[in-house]
Amino acid sequence: MKPEKHSNLPDLLSVDEARLRIMDSIIPIQGEQQLAIRDSLGRVLAEEIKSTINVPSFDNSAMDGYAITSDDIGVDQASKPLTVVGEAFAGNPFAGNIQAGESVRIMTGAMIPQGADTIVMQEQATRTDNLIVIENNVHKGDHVRFAGEDMCIGQTILHPGKLITPAELGLLASLGIAEVAVKRRLRVAFFSTGDELSSVGQVLKEGQIYDSNRYTLYGMLERFGAEVIDMGVVKDSRDAIRAAFKQAASMADAILTSGGVSVGEADYVKDTLEELGEVNFWRVAMKPGKPLAIGRIDNAAFFGVPGNPVSAMATFYQFALPALQKQAGMDAPLKLILKARTQSRLQKAVGRLEYQRGVLGYDEQGELVVNTTGVQGSHILTSMSLANCFIILDAESEGVDEGELVKVQPFAGII
Ligand code: AMP
Ligand code: MG
Repeated sequence: MKPEKHSNLPDLLSVDEARLRIMDSIIPIQGEQQLAIRDSLGRVLAEEIKSTINVPSFDNSAMDGYAITSDDIGVDQASKPLTVVGEAFAGNPFAGNIQAGESVRIMTGAMIPQGADTIVMQEQATRTDNLIVIENNVHKGDHVRFAGEDMCIGQTILHPGKLITPAELGLLASLGIAEVAVKRRLRVAFFSTGDELSSVGQVLKEGQIYDSNRYTLYGMLERFGAEVIDMGVVKDSRDAIRAAFKQAASMADAILTSGGVSVGEADYVKDTLEELGEVNFWRVAMKPGKPLAIGRIDNAAFFGVPGNPVSAMATFYQFALPALQKQAGMDAPLKLILKARTQSRLQKAVGRLEYQRGVLGYDEQGELVVNTTGVQGSHILTSMSLANCFIILDAESEGVDEGELVKVQPFAGII
């Protein structure tokens, strides 16, 4: 694939184009398992769920009050008090049948008694002993929840690909379903490359750094819901790299590596990968994270993100995560991008789309505002920890003045 020319920077692939090409190359995995519904939380549904019952399964009251027949609704309620002939509670219905002139004390969720079709809220009724007088503002069918209003028999409720969240757990439970088929977890093998890397717990030798990417990548993969296979640190040697890729491809659906994709290192990893699979080394018009290796080794999808810690995370979120979601069979989630007024001046050079790190919040007027986390180097991992959003600045932007609206992508939603 020949990279597309981009604005004034030759041979750079735009972020959108890179994402499209990656998504196009991804094939969802096969394989599913049957799980108790609680264990399916966070998993991807593999079957269609049709309702075999009505939910609610009977007409019931939406309010505490009195069940009446609409024949008793007239213009002058004060002149015709209704007799209270019984009670209906949730789970404990009224056994009889009500006639004109009668009412039943009823609680929320209780079955509508036979003969009744309207609920009078208790606030609309005045009770004296066994009689109620209702207000004149009652209408036929008020406060009745009808059988099947939420889900009705035969209705398709959930499709394969749906991410199972707390709402789906409740939905499955309200249909009486105890077990569901979910896609198997995606197996993702990951490792770091670099002779300078030392692992936590070891004493750093001169020129060494701790391998932080294996921890950020681990965290992002776990959060995504992968079955992770941590292959540790692989030395910058042809044999070590080849062996690691072969092993990873034999075990995993996807391989994620960090480092070794920048100019200079890329050629070397490239040679090794060429004999094993199809891998493209791209230069993407984004910052942080220009170099990116994407492809396939045997049957495993391969994502090679840059070694710089912020680049590794940004590249993972922007490219690898949506691809892994697709590979796992998950519906594409909503990509939440908001507009916020920046309270900081944001520096930027024309040419590459930037994912700057920002802190999103509200000003005194309740308007969404964002501030920069400060220094934006691709090695400043503290910026990712300080941030709660990416500030997305388009490739053409020459920087943004304080007070302007900018696009922000929050790190977290409600669930
Ligand atoms: P590379 O992409 O391998 O050229 O690495 C770019 C920069 O990121 C270099 O400063 C590396 O030392 C650093 N780096 C590479 N891998 C890691 C890692 N696993 N953890 C922290 N820093 C890394
Ligand atoms: Mg390296």
